[in-house]
Amino acid sequence: MKKQYVFGFEKGDGHNKMLLGGKGANLCEMTQIGINVPPGFVITTEACLYYLEKPENDLPAGVMDEVRAQMRQLEEKTDKVFGGSENPLLVSVRSGSAMSMPGMMDTILNLGLNTDTLKGLIAQTGNERFGWDAYRRFIQLFGKVALGVPDEAFDDVFDAVKEKAGVKEDVALTARDLREIADRFLETVETETGKPFPDDPMEQLEIAVKAVFDSWSGKRAIDYRREFNITPEMANGTAVNLCTMVFGNLGDDSATGVGFTRYPDTGENRLFGEYLVNAQGEDVVAGIRTPKTIDMMEQEMPDMYRELQVLRERLETHYHEVQDFEFTIENGRFYCLQTRNGKMNAAALVRTSVDMAREGLIDKRQALLRIQPDLLEQLLFPRLDPATQHAPVARGLSASPGAAVGLAVFDADRAEQQGHTGQRVILIREETKPEDIHGFFASQGILTARGGKTSHAAVVARGMGKPCVAGAEGITVDVRMRKAFVGDHTISEGDLITIDGTTGDVYLGEVPMIEAEFSSELGILLGWADETTHLKIMANADTPQDAEHALKFGAMGIGLCRTERMFNDAARLPIVIEMIVADTTGDRQAALNKLLPIQREDFKGIFKAMAPRPVTIRLLDPPIHEFLPSEQQLVEELEQLVHLKDTVMGMNILSDAVRLIYSGREMPVIGDLTDPMLVDEAIEKKETMLKKVRVLSEVNPMLGHRGVRLGLSFPEIYSMQITAVLEAAAECGQEGFEVSPEIMVPQVCTSQELKKVKSYVDSVHAAVEAKYGVKVDFKFGTMMEVVRACMRAGSLAEEAEFFSFGTNDLTQAAFSFSREDAENKFLPMYNELGILQDNPFEVLDIKGVGKLMQLAVEWGRETRPDMKVGICGEHGGHPESIRFCHDIGLSYVSCSGPRIPMARLAAAHAALASTP
Ligand code: ADP
Ligand code: MG
Ligand code: MG
Repeated sequence: MKKQYVFGFEKGDGHNKMLLGGKGANLCEMTQIGINVPPGFVITTEACLYYLEKPENDLPAGVMDEVRAQMRQLEEKTDKVFGGSENPLLVSVRSGSAMSMPGMMDTILNLGLNTDTLKGLIAQTGNERFGWDAYRRFIQLFGKVALGVPDEAFDDVFDAVKEKAGVKEDVALTARDLREIADRFLETVETETGKPFPDDPMEQLEIAVKAVFDSWSGKRAIDYRREFNITPEMANGTAVNLCTMVFGNLGDDSATGVGFTRYPDTGENRLFGEYLVNAQGEDVVAGIRTPKTIDMMEQEMPDMYRELQVLRERLETHYHEVQDFEFTIENGRFYCLQTRNGKMNAAALVRTSVDMAREGLIDKRQALLRIQPDLLEQLLFPRLDPATQHAPVARGLSASPGAAVGLAVFDADRAEQQGHTGQRVILIREETKPEDIHGFFASQGILTARGGKTSHAAVVARGMGKPCVAGAEGITVDVRMRKAFVGDHTISEGDLITIDGTTGDVYLGEVPMIEAEFSSELGILLGWADETTHLKIMANADTPQDAEHALKFGAMGIGLCRTERMFNDAARLPIVIEMIVADTTGDRQAALNKLLPIQREDFKGIFKAMAPRPVTIRLLDPPIHEFLPSEQQLVEELEQLVHLKDTVMGMNILSDAVRLIYSGREMPVIGDLTDPMLVDEAIEKKETMLKKVRVLSEVNPMLGHRGVRLGLSFPEIYSMQITAVLEAAAECGQEGFEVSPEIMVPQVCTSQELKKVKSYVDSVHAAVEAKYGVKVDFKFGTMMEVVRACMRAGSLAEEAEFFSFGTNDLTQAAFSFSREDAENKFLPMYNELGILQDNPFEVLDIKGVGKLMQLAVEWGRETRPDMKVGICGEHGGHPESIRFCHDIGLSYVSCSGPRIPMARLAAAHAALASTP
């Protein structure tokens, strides 16, 4: 059978956007469900591809015959004649591929006009000015779009005539002026192209169709497709839509406008739109006149307003999706010219999903699937008002999303003081260290001049859900002067600044913000998401506050509680240091005894906040030097102390001298003298610390003495932590809370390690049950973050009741990349060369790391079929990784609090994708 390249709006398949383009398919669909669309037809994308393939650029045989046949039908339907001097038929030529592509060709309006048909148009409308205006617009558009005449050539003519006529506004031009413009435009085309402007309407039509097809392979369109990753599977070729012209500019019973079936910014279930009386569609878009809101139409054109309401109803019941449409009213007759799915922000998507599901327009599955999980990020962090006029002064890395405004402060103590008095502050540091953590709690956000996305500041801020811009290299921080410098600007302590952790931008002053809100609709939608999937969404949370926060986002438990984070507190760090530098077990135990009640209280807080949900607590993991000052810092401090000692001694001499000189008289104040003994003591302390730091220093700390290895070297540390967990559980139990603690061992590579730690747990467990006289339930499990652990999963599963993949470390181990070095040195180059597609620390490497996970799950469950398995790396919060985790049968994913809603939706998507 001969291939059909041309389809009337009555015949084209409204579902086949690949063939007819989005615009064309919807024009067909609307025509077929009885919506008043001006008669027309579509030339398919297949005709386009055929045409572009032929070097001589030929349309497929017979296409122009089909077009002529379709034009005859249009003439019959409209009772007009294409090229007729009495009742001329005019058409628009509109491009449209399967994907909306603003990079493509502009629409040509009023095609079919020449001096002959113009007479007819003027007679038909009784409006000479309108006729000439339509004609000059057509020459200009056709000249530009189909014949490639530059805009400026026309603009020059236009301006010259305007000047001659002495008018400022286009509307003041008379029919005669417009006629002169049209005549001179015709000359312009001839000079520019070397050929007269085509007068024959059918010739105009063929040129226009070919120009639309050519635009598909034009630079603009190709760049656009590359930029937005539009592949041939998504859109291949453009269709051409030919559509009878209707005029919204024929008087006060004519109008044009655009509408949304619901509010695109809030999702409110009410018609939204704008219109202009006595205007053509392009006037609304071009912004020449300010349109009226659609609500005003109810008064001004009540009949037409009713038509709009009917259209709204029809479109939604048919498409089951919010529609964005164009309409034109010609002498009191209503036409719809286009419809497509409305683009909405996240808030509107959530609200319309819930509303439409309740109205029965869509089911819950559709309600969930029409929202991309990533979009929810918009809702969960405060963000800068997109309408802002402020320009950033510096840009760093988008280290932790959300925006924050506050007074600049340059050290953590000051941040804490001011924060506690209710001030909003932004902590600005060159870089941050664990001892800055109390300043984080009190700040709205964190800005650092150095460090990457994995820097301390970035990781901690993400964990807390606080906005952070890291490594803003344009900024120089001078802590002593309490100032920062950016280009010509100085930020002094107390100046207002704004940071946007979502983009990495830094602004001076206060930029208006939109607050995050967890709407009741989002709660409902995510409730539906939870019903769809068995994958649980847990939180990474280290403090009772984190836990409460995570619960608000819908956490079903805590998948990772990093005990070391509890040590990063100004009051606790000295005790931790005491524990580390202890030379004897006795000294160490003394320090641990101080830490025990502190950790127990923390755990109680977390358990109670989460009861009865599971809380997975990871025993101490990081290399111990992370708690100590650096060697260099200590050396510098020691030097200063030695100077100080001299100074102190000098002061004492001075004070003796003064006493002699002023004996008996009133003495000037010399200031508080310091006891040189005290300085000696400080020097001794620092020297011990320096020795210890040197002893503890490792060539490769991340692969060194950390995690379970440290726990086995100093069993008293793990025993203290285990005691704190189980005693907290016992005390919560006594207070009537149902708690489910899980103890997790980091960095494990062999089951022997697990056995050993399990033996500590068992003995502590027995002691705690005896002490409190209650039964304490718990689970014991392991992190999976070492390649060998994955390979030995079957054996580890004999000891471990659960696995939790630490994909940050596992990715480093699988690639043998150190993350910091990779991200700062060669990963960008690898991405550029296409050696690696993504950053595996951000996007889970499914082929490699994922394979290890898959094998570990399989082997682990061979030993222990009901094995609970989760993921707690940063990948746990990314929709694609969540999909993979679902597919390999994980029981849960764990991520930071603000990512939980996104993860819940992503988990639902994963489940729905596997059950068609
Ligand atoms: P875009 O993809 O830029 O929206 P369109 O093909 O929809 O391009 O057309 C541009 C403008 O011209 C729109 O305002 C549209 O409503 C108007 N328009 C297109 N075809 C016609 C027509 N046959 N009659 C009246 N106005 C039209
Ligand atoms: Mg367009
Ligand atoms: Mg349009």
